[in-house]
Amino acid sequence: MHFTDLGIDNRLETQLAHQGITQPTDIQAHAVPTALAGHDIFAQSKTGSGKTLAFLLPAVQRVMKQKALSKRDPRVLIVAPTRELATQVFTQLRLLIAGTNIKAVKILGGENFNDQIKALRNDPQFVVATPGRLADHLTKRTLQLSGLELLIFDEADRILDLGFTEQLKMINDLADHRLRQTLLFSATLDHAQVDALSRNLLKKPKQIMLSAANEQHSDIKQSLYLADHLDHKEALLEHFLNQDDVGQCIIFTATRADTSRLSEALCAKGFKAQPLAGDLAQNKRLDIMDAFSRENFKILITTDVASRGLDLLSVTHVINFDLPKHAEEYVHRIGRTGRAGFKGSALSLVGPKDWPSYLAIKAFLNDELKFDSVDGLKAKFKGIKEKKPVAVLATEKTVAAKKPVFKRKAKPKKPSAPIKAPINIDGDTPMRRRKKPEQE
Ligand code: ADP
Ligand code: MG
Repeated sequence: MHFTDLGIDNRLETQLAHQGITQPTDIQAHAVPTALAGHDIFAQSKTGSGKTLAFLLPAVQRVMKQKALSKRDPRVLIVAPTRELATQVFTQLRLLIAGTNIKAVKILGGENFNDQIKALRNDPQFVVATPGRLADHLTKRTLQLSGLELLIFDEADRILDLGFTEQLKMINDLADHRLRQTLLFSATLDHAQVDALSRNLLKKPKQIMLSAANEQHSDIKQSLYLADHLDHKEALLEHFLNQDDVGQCIIFTATRADTSRLSEALCAKGFKAQPLAGDLAQNKRLDIMDAFSRENFKILITTDVASRGLDLLSVTHVINFDLPKHAEEYVHRIGRTGRAGFKGSALSLVGPKDWPSYLAIKAFLNDELKFDSVDGLKAKFKGIKEKKPVAVLATEKTVAAKKPVFKRKAKPKKPSAPIKAPINIDGDTPMRRRKKPEQE
C-alpha cells in the first residue's frame, strides 16, 4: 500500500520517500483516511508504531488542500505533554513541510515568551505546544483559536495525568466551533480516560484501537533482575553495559538526583554517559537530546521526563535502574527501544523498594514477568510476600481522568463502533492522585 492510496498528496509521499518511508504503518493506514474524511478520532497503538505521521499527514494535507477558515489564527494545534515530545513532533512536521510555504511554530515552556509572541505574529498555520505555555498565550490573548480547524492531542492520557485539565478546558472552549476536528492519540489510554476525553473533547469519534495498552510489544525483549541494594544494581548495570550488543542506551532512575549521581558513577568507570533531568534549563535539555541523537555519547540517564519524548532508532537498550511507580509509564519507557520495526531489549532491576511497582506492572501487563539472573551477581532478595490484593495497585489512573472534566457545547452521542476489535480494559480503575508535573 502507498500513502497516495490513503488519499495523501504525491508531494508528501515524495517527501516521505526522502526519509526512507514508503509504506504506511497500520495506524497510519487506519487513521489517515479517517482523519481526511473529517472524523474525530480516538486512537491507540503501540509505542514506535508511527502515530506522529498518522496525525501529521492528514493535517498537512488539509492545510495544503483546503481553504483556511481564518487567515490569521493557526489552523492546526498539536498539544503534547512534554517539551521533548513536542520537539520531536515539531521536527517531523518541519521535515514534512520543507519546501512548502506552510509555517509552523513551537510554543514550549522554558523558552522566551516574547520570541514566541513574535513567531505567532507571523500567522503560522501550525502550532505545536505544551499545555502550560499554550494556556499562558491564550490567557494573554497572544494566540487566538477561533479559526482553529484541527486540534490534535499526542499522548493525551499523559496530559491528563500531569493535571492539565484546566488548560484542556480553556483550549476546548476557545476553539469550540462546529467545524473543529479533534484527534487524540496514545499508546496507553484507559477506559476512564477514553470516557472523560471523548465526552468532553470529541464529537462522534471513530475509535481506532490497534492494540491494548497492556499488550506485550513483540519487538521488545523484556528481562527483569532482582537486586539487593544500590551497589548490587550498579554492578548489574555495569555488567549489562559491557555486553557487545549494546548500542545506545537509555537508563531510567526514580529521581532527578539519581540521574546525576549515576552518571558520575558511570563516567568514573569510563562510560560515556550524561544525565537529563526535568529541572535543567530548556536549552540545556535540548542540547543534551541533540547530542544523544547525534550519538555523541552512548548512555542517557533520565527520569520519566523522557519516557515519551524520545524516538531514536539507535537505542538498543532501555534499562530501568528503578522501576516506574505507574505501570503505564513502564510501557512508554521500554517503548524508547524496538521502534519502527527494530528489535530492542528492556532490562529492569527490581530491588526491595521496586517491589510494589513490580507487582503493579505485572498485574497491568497480566504477565508472569519472571526473573533472569547473572552468574556471580545473583540476588539474595527474592521478593516480598504479597499482603494486599494486587488488583488495588494494578491499573491506576488519576482522579482527573475519572471525574467529568468539562463539557463541550454540542454534546456528542455515544462514540461510534471501533474500527478494529475493541480492547478489553477494566473499567473499574481505582483512582489515585499523581505528583505534580516535573516539567512545564
Ligand atoms: P509512536 O508515536 O507511535 O511511538 P513515532 O511516530 O514516533 O511512533 O514513529 C516511530 C518511528 O517510526 C519514527 O522514527 C518514524 O520516523 C518511523 N516511522 C513512522 N512511520 C513510518 C513508516 N510508515 N515506515 C517506516 N518508518 C516509519
Ligand atoms: Mg508518539
